[in-house]
Amino acid sequence: MFPTTPDPPPSVASMSAIRLIGLLHGLFAKLGQRGDLEGALSEVLGELGEFLGADGGFLLSASDLSNLRLLAESGASFHEDTMDKEQLHEFYNEIFREQRPTIIRTMRAEATSMVGVPLVIDGRLIGGMCFFRAEPKSPFAYEDIPLLGIVALPLAIHLENLEFARSNAARRAELEAIVASMVDGLLQVDSWGLIVSFNEAVRNLFGLPDAEFYTLYWDDLVRTGDRHVEIFADFNRALREGQPFAARCPATIQQGDREIPVSINFNTIVEASGRITGGVLSVRDVTIEAQIDRMKDEFIATVSHELKTPITTISGFLEMMITRPMNRVEQLPLLELIHSETGRLGRLINDMLDLSKIQSNRLSLDLKRVRMDGLIKSCLKPFEMRHKSTHRFELKVEPNRAMIHADPDRISQVLVNFISNAVKYSPDGGTISLAAQRLDDSWRVEVHDLGIGIPDDALPHVFDRFYRVNENQTAGSGLGLYISKEIIERHGGQIGAHSVVGQGSTFWFSLPLQTKDDKAAKPTKQGSKSLRNHAIARAEL
Ligand code: ADP
Repeated sequence: MFPTTPDPPPSVASMSAIRLIGLLHGLFAKLGQRGDLEGALSEVLGELGEFLGADGGFLLSASDLSNLRLLAESGASFHEDTMDKEQLHEFYNEIFREQRPTIIRTMRAEATSMVGVPLVIDGRLIGGMCFFRAEPKSPFAYEDIPLLGIVALPLAIHLENLEFARSNAARRAELEAIVASMVDGLLQVDSWGLIVSFNEAVRNLFGLPDAEFYTLYWDDLVRTGDRHVEIFADFNRALREGQPFAARCPATIQQGDREIPVSINFNTIVEASGRITGGVLSVRDVTIEAQIDRMKDEFIATVSHELKTPITTISGFLEMMITRPMNRVEQLPLLELIHSETGRLGRLINDMLDLSKIQSNRLSLDLKRVRMDGLIKSCLKPFEMRHKSTHRFELKVEPNRAMIHADPDRISQVLVNFISNAVKYSPDGGTISLAAQRLDDSWRVEVHDLGIGIPDDALPHVFDRFYRVNENQTAGSGLGLYISKEIIERHGGQIGAHSVVGQGSTFWFSLPLQTKDDKAAKPTKQGSKSLRNHAIARAEL
Protein backbone atom coordinates (compact mmCIF):
# COMPACT_ATOMS: atom_id res chain seq x y z
CA MET A 1 0.00 0.00 0.00
CA PHE A 2 1.24 3.51 -0.77
CA PRO A 3 1.27 5.93 2.17
CA THR A 4 -1.67 8.23 1.92
CA THR A 5 -0.89 11.91 2.11
CA PRO A 6 -3.41 14.68 1.61
CA ASP A 7 -3.51 15.99 -2.09
CA PRO A 8 -1.83 19.42 -2.57
CA PRO A 9 -4.07 22.00 -4.28
CA PRO A 10 -3.44 21.87 -8.14
CA SER A 11 -1.12 24.60 -9.51
CA VAL A 12 -1.90 26.42 -12.74
CA ALA A 13 0.93 24.54 -14.49
CA SER A 14 -0.26 21.16 -13.30
CA MET A 15 -3.80 22.06 -14.27
CA SER A 16 -2.76 22.82 -17.82
CA ALA A 17 -0.73 19.55 -17.84
CA ILE A 18 -3.86 17.65 -16.78
CA ARG A 19 -5.84 19.49 -19.45
CA LEU A 20 -3.12 18.71 -21.96
CA ILE A 21 -3.12 14.99 -21.10
CA GLY A 22 -6.90 14.95 -21.28
CA LEU A 23 -6.78 16.72 -24.60
CA LEU A 24 -4.15 14.37 -26.06
CA HIS A 25 -6.00 11.34 -24.74
CA GLY A 26 -9.17 12.57 -26.41
CA LEU A 27 -7.38 13.39 -29.68
CA PHE A 28 -5.53 10.07 -29.90
CA ALA A 29 -8.76 8.21 -29.11
CA LYS A 30 -10.45 10.05 -31.99
CA LEU A 31 -7.60 9.33 -34.39
CA GLY A 32 -7.61 5.69 -33.36
CA GLN A 33 -11.28 5.23 -34.20
CA ARG A 34 -12.09 3.16 -37.27
CA GLY A 35 -15.31 4.74 -38.44
CA ASP A 36 -15.47 8.24 -39.93
CA LEU A 37 -11.83 9.07 -40.74
CA GLU A 38 -12.57 12.45 -42.28
CA GLY A 39 -14.94 13.51 -39.48
CA ALA A 40 -12.25 12.68 -36.90
CA LEU A 41 -9.83 15.09 -38.62
CA SER A 42 -12.16 18.09 -38.30
CA GLU A 43 -12.89 17.24 -34.65
CA VAL A 44 -9.18 16.99 -33.82
CA LEU A 45 -8.54 20.33 -35.57
CA GLY A 46 -11.42 21.94 -33.66
CA GLU A 47 -10.26 20.74 -30.26
CA LEU A 48 -6.61 21.60 -30.87
CA GLY A 49 -7.62 25.03 -32.19
CA GLU A 50 -9.73 25.65 -29.12
CA PHE A 51 -6.87 24.62 -26.84
CA LEU A 52 -4.52 26.99 -28.68
CA GLY A 53 -7.06 29.81 -28.69
CA ALA A 54 -6.97 29.88 -32.52
CA ASP A 55 -9.74 31.38 -34.63
CA GLY A 56 -9.42 28.62 -37.19
CA GLY A 57 -7.27 25.80 -38.47
CA PHE A 58 -6.80 23.76 -41.59
CA LEU A 59 -5.10 20.60 -42.69
CA LEU A 60 -3.39 20.13 -46.02
CA SER A 61 -2.22 16.92 -47.63
CA ALA A 62 0.95 17.23 -49.67
CA SER A 63 3.82 15.19 -51.02
CA ASP A 64 5.69 18.44 -51.79
CA LEU A 65 5.10 22.16 -51.87
CA SER A 66 3.61 22.08 -55.37
CA ASN A 67 0.59 19.92 -54.63
CA LEU A 68 -1.13 21.09 -51.47
CA ARG A 69 -4.69 19.83 -51.06
CA LEU A 70 -7.13 21.02 -48.37
CA LEU A 71 -8.33 18.02 -46.35
CA ALA A 72 -10.18 19.54 -43.42
CA GLU A 73 -10.79 22.87 -41.71
CA SER A 74 -12.46 24.11 -38.58
CA GLY A 75 -13.43 27.46 -37.09
CA ALA A 76 -13.24 30.58 -39.24
CA SER A 77 -12.24 30.24 -42.91
CA PHE A 78 -8.73 31.15 -43.89
CA HIS A 79 -8.56 33.63 -46.80
CA GLU A 80 -5.20 33.12 -48.46
CA ASP A 81 -5.80 35.87 -51.01
CA THR A 82 -5.96 38.60 -48.35
CA MET A 83 -2.60 37.60 -46.87
CA ASP A 84 0.83 38.86 -47.82
CA LYS A 85 1.82 36.46 -50.62
CA GLU A 86 5.53 36.51 -49.97
CA GLN A 87 5.14 35.95 -46.25
CA LEU A 88 2.65 33.13 -46.78
CA HIS A 89 4.97 31.52 -49.32
CA GLU A 90 7.83 31.60 -46.80
CA PHE A 91 5.52 30.08 -44.19
CA TYR A 92 4.50 27.18 -46.49
CA ASN A 93 8.07 26.80 -47.72
CA GLU A 94 9.27 26.29 -44.18
CA ILE A 95 6.61 23.65 -43.44
CA PHE A 96 6.37 21.76 -46.75
CA ARG A 97 9.88 22.10 -48.17
CA GLU A 98 12.12 22.43 -45.10
CA GLN A 99 9.73 20.25 -43.09
CA ARG A 100 10.08 22.50 -40.04
CA PRO A 101 7.44 23.92 -37.67
CA THR A 102 7.09 27.66 -38.07
CA ILE A 103 5.34 30.76 -36.74
CA ILE A 104 4.36 34.11 -38.19
CA ARG A 105 3.77 36.32 -35.26
CA THR A 106 1.99 38.99 -37.31
CA MET A 107 1.26 38.96 -41.04
CA ARG A 108 2.10 42.17 -42.85
CA ALA A 109 -1.13 42.63 -44.85
CA GLU A 110 -3.64 41.22 -42.39
CA ALA A 111 -2.81 41.42 -38.75
CA THR A 112 -2.98 37.66 -38.40
CA SER A 113 -0.71 35.32 -36.52
CA MET A 114 -0.06 31.79 -37.83
CA VAL A 115 1.51 28.59 -36.59
CA GLY A 116 2.07 25.43 -38.61
CA VAL A 117 3.80 22.06 -38.42
CA PRO A 118 4.66 19.52 -41.12
CA LEU A 119 3.17 16.00 -40.90
CA VAL A 120 5.96 13.57 -41.63
CA ILE A 121 6.45 9.80 -41.40
CA ASP A 122 9.98 8.44 -41.71
CA GLY A 123 11.12 11.66 -43.38
CA ARG A 124 8.27 11.40 -45.91
CA LEU A 125 6.02 14.48 -46.12
CA ILE A 126 2.33 13.62 -45.73
CA GLY A 127 0.89 17.11 -45.17
CA GLY A 128 0.78 20.04 -42.80
CA MET A 129 -1.41 21.45 -40.02
CA CYS A 130 -1.85 25.23 -39.59
CA PHE A 131 -3.75 27.50 -37.20
CA PHE A 132 -4.37 31.24 -37.35
CA ARG A 133 -5.43 33.93 -34.96
CA ALA A 134 -6.83 37.25 -36.06
CA GLU A 135 -6.41 40.55 -34.27
CA PRO A 136 -6.81 41.74 -31.63
CA LYS A 137 -5.71 38.55 -29.90
CA SER A 138 -2.05 38.03 -28.98
CA PRO A 139 0.17 36.24 -31.53
CA PHE A 140 1.10 32.53 -31.30
CA ALA A 141 4.16 31.73 -29.21
CA TYR A 142 6.98 29.23 -29.77
CA GLU A 143 5.68 27.31 -26.72
CA ASP A 144 2.64 26.36 -28.81
CA ILE A 145 4.75 24.30 -31.19
CA PRO A 146 5.59 21.24 -28.97
CA LEU A 147 1.88 20.47 -28.52
CA LEU A 148 1.37 20.47 -32.29
CA GLY A 149 4.54 18.38 -32.66
CA ILE A 150 3.09 15.69 -30.33
CA VAL A 151 -0.10 15.44 -32.36
CA ALA A 152 1.68 15.62 -35.74
CA LEU A 153 2.85 11.99 -35.92
CA PRO A 154 -0.47 10.24 -35.09
CA LEU A 155 -2.16 12.76 -37.36
CA ALA A 156 0.25 11.90 -40.20
CA ILE A 157 -0.43 8.17 -39.68
CA HIS A 158 -4.13 8.91 -39.65
CA LEU A 159 -3.84 10.85 -42.93
CA GLU A 160 -1.92 8.04 -44.52
CA ASN A 161 -4.62 5.58 -43.43
CA LEU A 162 -7.21 7.91 -44.87
CA GLU A 163 -5.42 8.05 -48.24
CA PHE A 164 -5.01 4.30 -48.14
CA ALA A 165 -8.69 3.77 -47.35
CA ARG A 166 -9.65 6.18 -50.16
CA SER A 167 -7.45 4.54 -52.76
CA ASN A 168 -8.64 1.13 -51.52
CA ALA A 169 -12.25 2.20 -51.93
CA ALA A 170 -11.51 3.58 -55.41
CA ARG A 171 -9.65 0.38 -56.37
CA ARG A 172 -12.50 -1.73 -55.01
CA ALA A 173 -15.06 0.28 -56.98
CA GLU A 174 -12.93 -0.15 -60.11
CA LEU A 175 -12.61 -3.89 -59.54
CA GLU A 176 -16.34 -4.22 -58.89
CA ALA A 177 -17.08 -2.36 -62.13
CA ILE A 178 -14.67 -4.62 -64.06
CA VAL A 179 -16.11 -7.81 -62.55
CA ALA A 180 -19.68 -6.62 -63.19
CA SER A 181 -18.94 -5.79 -66.82
CA MET A 182 -17.18 -9.10 -67.53
CA VAL A 183 -18.82 -11.32 -70.12
CA ASP A 184 -17.45 -14.40 -68.38
CA GLY A 185 -19.20 -15.61 -65.25
CA LEU A 186 -17.14 -15.34 -62.04
CA LEU A 187 -17.89 -17.47 -58.99
CA GLN A 188 -16.03 -16.94 -55.74
CA VAL A 189 -16.03 -19.96 -53.40
CA ASP A 190 -14.84 -20.59 -49.84
CA SER A 191 -12.49 -23.36 -48.79
CA TRP A 192 -15.40 -25.81 -48.82
CA GLY A 193 -16.32 -24.90 -52.37
CA LEU A 194 -19.47 -23.09 -51.24
CA ILE A 195 -20.42 -20.12 -53.43
CA VAL A 196 -19.87 -16.82 -51.62
CA SER A 197 -20.19 -14.28 -54.43
CA PHE A 198 -20.81 -14.07 -58.18
CA ASN A 199 -21.11 -11.48 -60.92
CA GLU A 200 -23.93 -10.42 -63.24
CA ALA A 201 -22.75 -12.78 -66.01
CA VAL A 202 -23.32 -15.75 -63.66
CA ARG A 203 -26.95 -14.68 -63.21
CA ASN A 204 -27.39 -14.63 -66.99
CA LEU A 205 -25.58 -17.91 -67.52
CA PHE A 206 -27.46 -20.01 -64.96
CA GLY A 207 -30.73 -18.09 -64.69
CA LEU A 208 -31.19 -18.98 -60.98
CA PRO A 209 -32.50 -16.69 -58.22
CA ASP A 210 -29.65 -14.99 -56.30
CA ALA A 211 -30.50 -16.65 -52.99
CA GLU A 212 -30.17 -20.10 -54.52
CA PHE A 213 -26.51 -19.57 -55.49
CA TYR A 214 -25.51 -19.09 -51.85
CA THR A 215 -26.87 -22.53 -50.97
CA LEU A 216 -24.83 -24.30 -53.66
CA TYR A 217 -21.33 -25.66 -54.01
CA TRP A 218 -19.65 -24.76 -57.29
CA ASP A 219 -19.70 -28.38 -58.49
CA ASP A 220 -23.50 -28.45 -58.13
CA LEU A 221 -23.56 -26.05 -61.09
CA VAL A 222 -20.91 -27.45 -63.41
CA ARG A 223 -20.48 -30.86 -65.01
CA THR A 224 -17.57 -32.35 -66.86
CA GLY A 225 -16.82 -35.56 -68.73
CA ASP A 226 -14.70 -38.38 -67.29
CA ARG A 227 -11.51 -36.99 -68.81
CA HIS A 228 -11.57 -33.89 -66.65
CA VAL A 229 -13.21 -35.17 -63.50
CA GLU A 230 -9.74 -35.30 -61.87
CA ILE A 231 -9.37 -31.52 -62.20
CA PHE A 232 -12.63 -31.04 -60.28
CA ALA A 233 -11.39 -33.27 -57.44
CA ASP A 234 -7.94 -31.61 -57.42
CA PHE A 235 -9.48 -28.14 -57.12
CA ASN A 236 -11.65 -29.18 -54.17
CA ARG A 237 -8.64 -30.79 -52.47
CA ALA A 238 -6.50 -27.67 -53.06
CA LEU A 239 -9.25 -25.50 -51.51
CA ARG A 240 -9.57 -27.64 -48.40
CA GLU A 241 -5.82 -28.12 -47.91
CA GLY A 242 -4.99 -24.49 -48.74
CA GLN A 243 -2.74 -25.40 -51.66
CA PRO A 244 -2.32 -23.15 -54.72
CA PHE A 245 -4.07 -24.49 -57.83
CA ALA A 246 -4.71 -23.24 -61.36
CA ALA A 247 -6.24 -25.20 -64.23
CA ARG A 248 -8.62 -24.92 -67.14
CA CYS A 249 -11.01 -27.52 -68.54
CA PRO A 250 -14.08 -27.87 -70.73
CA ALA A 251 -17.39 -28.56 -68.99
CA THR A 252 -21.12 -28.06 -69.39
CA ILE A 253 -23.76 -26.17 -67.44
CA GLN A 254 -27.53 -26.46 -67.40
CA GLN A 255 -29.44 -23.38 -68.54
CA GLY A 256 -33.11 -24.21 -68.08
CA ASP A 257 -33.53 -27.34 -70.19
CA ARG A 258 -30.51 -26.51 -72.38
CA GLU A 259 -27.04 -27.90 -71.81
CA ILE A 260 -24.38 -25.32 -72.68
CA PRO A 261 -20.70 -26.01 -73.35
CA VAL A 262 -18.40 -23.86 -71.21
CA SER A 263 -14.72 -23.48 -70.52
CA ILE A 264 -13.74 -23.15 -66.85
CA ASN A 265 -10.67 -21.54 -65.32
CA PHE A 266 -9.94 -22.57 -61.74
CA ASN A 267 -7.74 -20.51 -59.44
CA THR A 268 -7.17 -20.45 -55.73
CA ILE A 269 -7.19 -17.03 -54.04
CA VAL A 270 -3.90 -16.36 -52.30
CA GLU A 271 -3.69 -13.58 -49.68
CA ALA A 272 -0.59 -11.38 -49.40
CA SER A 273 0.52 -13.58 -46.46
CA GLY A 274 0.38 -16.63 -48.76
CA ARG A 275 -2.72 -18.07 -47.06
CA ILE A 276 -5.31 -19.61 -49.43
CA THR A 277 -8.72 -18.20 -48.58
CA GLY A 278 -10.86 -19.85 -51.24
CA GLY A 279 -11.09 -20.00 -54.98
CA VAL A 280 -12.46 -18.34 -58.04
CA LEU A 281 -13.91 -19.95 -61.16
CA SER A 282 -14.42 -18.12 -64.42
CA VAL A 283 -17.06 -19.70 -66.62
CA ARG A 284 -17.05 -18.87 -70.35
CA ASP A 285 -19.92 -19.80 -72.65
CA VAL A 286 -18.25 -21.46 -75.66
CA THR A 287 -21.43 -22.32 -77.59
CA ILE A 288 -20.39 -20.19 -80.55
CA GLU A 289 -16.79 -21.44 -80.56
CA ALA A 290 -18.07 -25.04 -80.43
CA GLN A 291 -20.45 -24.31 -83.30
CA ILE A 292 -17.69 -22.70 -85.38
CA ASP A 293 -15.37 -25.62 -84.64
CA ARG A 294 -18.05 -28.05 -85.78
CA MET A 295 -18.71 -25.97 -88.89
CA LYS A 296 -14.99 -25.75 -89.64
CA ASP A 297 -14.67 -29.54 -89.39
CA GLU A 298 -17.64 -29.92 -91.70
CA PHE A 299 -16.17 -27.31 -94.04
CA ILE A 300 -12.82 -29.08 -94.23
CA ALA A 301 -14.60 -32.38 -94.93
CA THR A 302 -16.83 -30.72 -97.57
CA VAL A 303 -14.02 -28.81 -99.24
CA SER A 304 -11.76 -31.85 -99.38
CA HIS A 305 -14.63 -33.80 -100.91
CA GLU A 306 -15.47 -30.93 -103.28
CA LEU A 307 -11.84 -30.72 -104.38
CA LYS A 308 -11.32 -34.45 -104.63
CA THR A 309 -14.42 -35.23 -106.70
CA PRO A 310 -13.64 -33.04 -109.75
CA ILE A 311 -9.94 -33.87 -109.59
CA THR A 312 -10.73 -37.61 -109.61
CA THR A 313 -13.11 -37.12 -112.57
CA ILE A 314 -10.65 -34.95 -114.49
CA SER A 315 -7.68 -37.23 -113.96
CA GLY A 316 -9.79 -40.35 -114.76
CA PHE A 317 -11.00 -38.92 -118.07
CA LEU A 318 -7.57 -37.59 -118.99
CA GLU A 319 -6.09 -41.03 -118.32
CA MET A 320 -8.74 -42.60 -120.59
CA MET A 321 -7.88 -40.15 -123.34
CA ILE A 322 -4.15 -40.78 -122.99
CA THR A 323 -4.30 -44.58 -122.79
CA ARG A 324 -7.08 -45.32 -125.30
CA PRO A 325 -7.04 -44.34 -128.93
CA MET A 326 -10.04 -41.99 -129.46
CA ASN A 327 -11.23 -39.82 -132.25
CA ARG A 328 -12.45 -36.25 -131.79
CA VAL A 329 -16.14 -37.29 -131.58
CA GLU A 330 -15.38 -39.76 -128.75
CA GLN A 331 -13.18 -37.20 -126.96
CA LEU A 332 -15.75 -34.39 -127.05
CA PRO A 333 -18.13 -35.54 -124.23
CA LEU A 334 -15.13 -36.30 -122.01
CA LEU A 335 -13.65 -32.86 -122.69
CA GLU A 336 -17.00 -31.23 -121.87
CA LEU A 337 -17.09 -33.02 -118.53
CA ILE A 338 -13.49 -32.07 -117.82
CA HIS A 339 -14.42 -28.48 -118.66
CA SER A 340 -17.41 -28.44 -116.32
CA GLU A 341 -15.45 -30.07 -113.50
CA THR A 342 -12.69 -27.49 -113.95
CA GLY A 343 -15.37 -24.79 -113.62
CA ARG A 344 -16.54 -26.39 -110.37
CA LEU A 345 -13.00 -26.36 -109.02
CA GLY A 346 -12.58 -22.74 -110.07
CA ARG A 347 -15.81 -21.74 -108.28
CA LEU A 348 -14.73 -23.41 -105.08
CA ILE A 349 -11.32 -21.71 -105.18
CA ASN A 350 -12.97 -18.33 -105.90
CA ASP A 351 -15.33 -18.83 -102.94
CA MET A 352 -12.38 -19.53 -100.67
CA LEU A 353 -10.53 -16.47 -101.97
CA ASP A 354 -13.64 -14.32 -101.41
CA LEU A 355 -14.01 -15.71 -97.91
CA SER A 356 -10.46 -14.71 -97.06
CA LYS A 357 -11.05 -11.23 -98.60
CA ILE A 358 -14.18 -10.76 -96.49
CA GLN A 359 -12.41 -11.86 -93.34
CA SER A 360 -9.51 -9.48 -93.91
CA ASN A 361 -11.92 -6.75 -95.08
CA ARG A 362 -10.41 -6.59 -98.56
CA LEU A 363 -13.58 -7.19 -100.59
CA SER A 364 -13.85 -3.99 -102.61
CA LEU A 365 -16.48 -2.92 -105.16
CA ASP A 366 -15.93 -1.54 -108.64
CA LEU A 367 -19.11 0.52 -109.12
CA LYS A 368 -20.43 1.18 -112.61
CA ARG A 369 -23.68 2.13 -114.32
CA VAL A 370 -25.18 -0.98 -115.87
CA ARG A 371 -28.55 -2.01 -117.27
CA MET A 372 -30.43 -4.22 -114.85
CA ASP A 373 -32.17 -6.34 -117.53
CA GLY A 374 -28.91 -6.95 -119.41
CA LEU A 375 -27.14 -7.97 -116.23
CA ILE A 376 -29.82 -10.50 -115.25
CA LYS A 377 -30.12 -11.90 -118.79
CA SER A 378 -26.39 -12.51 -119.06
CA CYS A 379 -26.45 -14.41 -115.73
CA LEU A 380 -29.48 -16.46 -116.74
CA LYS A 381 -28.37 -17.45 -120.23
CA PRO A 382 -25.91 -20.27 -119.37
CA PHE A 383 -28.50 -21.83 -117.03
CA GLU A 384 -31.19 -21.72 -119.73
CA MET A 385 -28.85 -23.48 -122.13
CA ARG A 386 -27.61 -26.09 -119.67
CA HIS A 387 -30.88 -26.94 -117.91
CA LYS A 388 -33.49 -26.45 -120.63
CA SER A 389 -34.46 -30.13 -120.49
CA THR A 390 -35.27 -30.02 -116.74
CA HIS A 391 -36.22 -26.43 -115.87
CA ARG A 392 -38.20 -23.56 -117.32
CA PHE A 393 -36.93 -20.02 -116.70
CA GLU A 394 -39.06 -16.87 -116.51
CA LEU A 395 -37.78 -13.30 -116.33
CA LYS A 396 -39.57 -10.04 -115.61
CA VAL A 397 -37.74 -6.69 -115.18
CA GLU A 398 -39.68 -3.49 -114.43
CA PRO A 399 -38.97 -0.94 -115.78
CA ASN A 400 -37.10 -2.43 -118.68
CA ARG A 401 -33.84 -0.72 -119.73
CA ALA A 402 -33.39 0.82 -116.27
CA MET A 403 -29.88 1.35 -115.01
CA ILE A 404 -28.33 0.51 -111.68
CA HIS A 405 -25.15 1.78 -110.16
CA ALA A 406 -23.36 -1.23 -108.74
CA ASP A 407 -20.43 -3.60 -109.18
CA PRO A 408 -21.74 -5.72 -112.08
CA ASP A 409 -19.39 -8.67 -111.47
CA ARG A 410 -20.31 -8.89 -107.78
CA ILE A 411 -24.07 -8.51 -108.40
CA SER A 412 -23.79 -11.20 -111.12
CA GLN A 413 -22.04 -13.42 -108.57
CA VAL A 414 -25.04 -13.08 -106.22
CA LEU A 415 -27.53 -13.72 -109.04
CA VAL A 416 -25.62 -16.75 -110.33
CA ASN A 417 -25.51 -18.13 -106.80
CA PHE A 418 -29.28 -17.67 -106.38
CA ILE A 419 -30.03 -19.23 -109.78
CA SER A 420 -27.62 -22.14 -109.38
CA ASN A 421 -29.08 -22.88 -105.91
CA ALA A 422 -32.60 -22.69 -107.37
CA VAL A 423 -31.59 -25.30 -109.97
CA LYS A 424 -29.55 -27.41 -107.53
CA TYR A 425 -32.28 -27.55 -104.88
CA SER A 426 -35.15 -28.28 -107.27
CA PRO A 427 -34.00 -31.70 -108.44
CA ASP A 428 -37.41 -32.51 -109.93
CA GLY A 429 -37.25 -29.50 -112.19
CA GLY A 430 -40.01 -26.90 -112.49
CA THR A 431 -40.17 -23.21 -113.21
CA ILE A 432 -37.56 -20.82 -111.86
CA SER A 433 -38.81 -17.23 -111.98
CA LEU A 434 -36.64 -14.14 -111.78
CA ALA A 435 -38.14 -10.73 -111.12
CA ALA A 436 -36.52 -7.32 -110.75
CA GLN A 437 -38.63 -4.35 -109.78
CA ARG A 438 -37.75 -0.76 -109.10
CA LEU A 439 -39.51 0.45 -105.94
CA ASP A 440 -39.57 3.98 -104.47
CA ASP A 441 -36.10 3.90 -103.02
CA SER A 442 -34.62 0.57 -104.07
CA TRP A 443 -34.33 -2.19 -106.62
CA ARG A 444 -35.71 -5.55 -105.47
CA VAL A 445 -34.57 -8.71 -107.23
CA GLU A 446 -36.08 -12.16 -106.54
CA VAL A 447 -35.33 -15.71 -107.63
CA HIS A 448 -38.15 -18.15 -106.97
CA ASP A 449 -38.03 -21.94 -107.35
CA LEU A 450 -40.42 -24.86 -106.80
CA GLY A 451 -37.77 -27.01 -105.13
CA ILE A 452 -37.27 -28.84 -101.84
CA GLY A 453 -37.62 -25.72 -99.66
CA ILE A 454 -35.91 -24.97 -96.34
CA PRO A 455 -37.24 -25.84 -92.85
CA ASP A 456 -38.19 -22.83 -90.67
CA ASP A 457 -35.48 -23.49 -88.07
CA ALA A 458 -32.76 -23.61 -90.76
CA LEU A 459 -33.86 -20.56 -92.74
CA PRO A 460 -32.30 -17.91 -90.42
CA HIS A 461 -28.91 -19.65 -90.77
CA VAL A 462 -28.60 -20.09 -94.56
CA PHE A 463 -26.56 -16.86 -94.84
CA ASP A 464 -24.11 -18.02 -92.15
CA ARG A 465 -20.60 -19.04 -93.07
CA PHE A 466 -20.28 -22.78 -93.99
CA TYR A 467 -23.93 -23.43 -93.15
CA ARG A 468 -25.65 -26.16 -95.14
CA VAL A 469 -29.14 -27.36 -94.28
CA ASN A 470 -28.20 -30.96 -94.86
CA GLU A 471 -24.53 -31.92 -94.94
CA ASN A 472 -25.24 -34.94 -97.10
CA GLN A 473 -27.11 -32.99 -99.70
CA THR A 474 -25.84 -32.28 -103.18
CA ALA A 475 -22.40 -30.70 -103.69
CA GLY A 476 -21.70 -27.28 -102.14
CA SER A 477 -19.47 -25.47 -99.65
CA GLY A 478 -21.99 -23.44 -97.63
CA LEU A 479 -20.19 -20.25 -98.66
CA GLY A 480 -22.25 -18.94 -101.60
CA LEU A 481 -25.02 -17.23 -99.61
CA TYR A 482 -22.59 -15.93 -96.97
CA ILE A 483 -20.54 -14.23 -99.70
CA SER A 484 -23.75 -12.97 -101.38
CA LYS A 485 -24.86 -11.36 -98.13
CA GLU A 486 -21.52 -9.58 -97.74
CA ILE A 487 -21.66 -8.32 -101.34
CA ILE A 488 -25.21 -6.96 -100.98
CA GLU A 489 -24.52 -5.37 -97.60
CA ARG A 490 -21.41 -3.68 -99.00
CA HIS A 491 -23.68 -2.20 -101.65
CA GLY A 492 -25.84 -0.84 -98.84
CA GLY A 493 -28.62 -3.31 -99.61
CA GLN A 494 -30.46 -6.11 -97.87
CA ILE A 495 -30.80 -9.81 -98.53
CA GLY A 496 -33.32 -12.43 -97.40
CA ALA A 497 -35.27 -15.57 -98.13
CA HIS A 498 -38.57 -17.21 -97.48
CA SER A 499 -39.40 -20.80 -98.08
CA VAL A 500 -41.92 -23.61 -97.58
CA VAL A 501 -40.61 -27.16 -97.29
CA GLY A 502 -41.69 -29.21 -100.31
CA GLN A 503 -43.05 -26.17 -102.15
CA GLY A 504 -40.06 -24.02 -102.94
CA SER A 505 -38.00 -20.98 -101.94
CA THR A 506 -37.63 -17.32 -102.82
CA PHE A 507 -34.27 -15.61 -102.39
CA TRP A 508 -34.23 -11.82 -102.75
CA PHE A 509 -31.97 -8.84 -102.43
CA SER A 510 -32.53 -5.11 -102.59
CA LEU A 511 -30.17 -2.32 -103.64
CA PRO A 512 -30.81 1.29 -102.64
CA LEU A 513 -31.36 3.87 -105.37
CA GLN A 514 -29.39 6.41 -103.35
CA THR A 515 -27.19 8.51 -105.61
CA LYS A 516 -23.56 8.83 -104.74
CA ASP A 517 -20.48 9.91 -106.64
CA ASP A 518 -18.91 7.30 -108.84
CA LYS A 519 -16.15 6.40 -106.45
CA ALA A 520 -15.80 2.69 -105.81
CA ALA A 521 -16.72 1.66 -102.30
CA LYS A 522 -13.57 0.57 -100.63
CA PRO A 523 -13.41 -1.67 -97.59
CA THR A 524 -12.86 0.20 -94.37
CA LYS A 525 -11.56 -0.75 -90.98
CA GLN A 526 -15.05 -0.81 -89.57
CA GLY A 527 -16.10 -3.55 -91.97
CA SER A 528 -19.08 -4.00 -94.18
CA LYS A 529 -21.74 -2.29 -92.08
CA SER A 530 -20.07 1.12 -92.32
CA LEU A 531 -20.12 0.79 -96.06
CA ARG A 532 -23.87 0.63 -96.04
CA ASN A 533 -23.98 4.37 -96.03
CA HIS A 534 -21.65 4.50 -98.99
CA ALA A 535 -24.16 3.99 -101.42
CA ILE A 536 -24.68 2.73 -104.19
CA ALA A 537 -27.33 1.77 -106.57
CA ARG A 538 -28.74 4.42 -108.84
CA ALA A 539 -31.52 3.85 -111.26
CA GLU A 540 -32.14 5.85 -114.35
CA LEU A 541 -34.40 5.36 -117.28
P1 ADP B 1 -24.04 -24.34 -100.96
O1 ADP B 1 -22.74 -24.27 -101.64
O2 ADP B 1 -24.12 -25.42 -99.92
O3 ADP B 1 -25.20 -24.35 -101.88
P2 ADP B 1 -25.01 -21.75 -100.13
O4 ADP B 1 -24.38 -20.81 -99.16
O5 ADP B 1 -25.27 -21.26 -101.48
O6 ADP B 1 -24.06 -23.03 -100.10
O7 ADP B 1 -26.37 -22.24 -99.49
C1 ADP B 1 -26.40 -22.61 -98.12
C2 ADP B 1 -27.44 -23.67 -97.89
O8 ADP B 1 -28.76 -23.10 -98.06
C3 ADP B 1 -27.40 -24.79 -98.92
O9 ADP B 1 -26.48 -25.78 -98.52
C4 ADP B 1 -28.84 -25.28 -98.90
O10 ADP B 1 -29.01 -26.20 -97.85
C5 ADP B 1 -29.66 -24.04 -98.60
N1 ADP B 1 -30.24 -23.45 -99.85
C6 ADP B 1 -29.74 -22.41 -100.54
N2 ADP B 1 -30.57 -22.11 -101.58
C7 ADP B 1 -31.60 -22.97 -101.52
C8 ADP B 1 -32.78 -23.17 -102.32
N3 ADP B 1 -33.05 -22.40 -103.35
N4 ADP B 1 -33.63 -24.17 -101.95
C9 ADP B 1 -33.35 -24.94 -100.87
N5 ADP B 1 -32.25 -24.80 -100.08
C10 ADP B 1 -31.38 -23.83 -100.41
